[in-house]
Amino acid sequence: MFKGYKDLPCVPMTWDTTLVNMTGGWRTYKPILDEEKCNKCYICWKFCPEAAIDVDDELKEVPKIDYDHCKGCAICANECPKEAIEMVEESIED
Ligand code: SF4
Ligand code: SF4
Repeated sequence: MFKGYKDLPCVPMTWDTTLVNMTGGWRTYKPILDEEKCNKCYICWKFCPEAAIDVDDELKEVPKIDYDHCKGCAICANECPKEAIEMVEESIED
């Protein structure tokens, strides 16, 4: 079990999603992050294949999900060691 993002191997990542496709329209399930449960390990950020989890430069704040680019794959929810991310069915109104 990984305790934090530093336990994961180094891989190329992007800090900026503005050049990536707007994959949010593919989503049928939406990740909801519970800030009370989050321990700021940033494992979700490292695993997200769409770079749709935003973190601050100092890595001190709870990550934020960029719903324009999140495709709802649930990798973040599956990898989160604190079960802080819940996948909920996308509402048609969203
Ligand atoms: S949501 Fe989960 S994986 Fe992401 S930083 Fe918080 S505890 Fe870690
Ligand atoms: S559901 Fe998938 S695309 Fe969306 S934030 Fe989580 S890992 Fe990234």
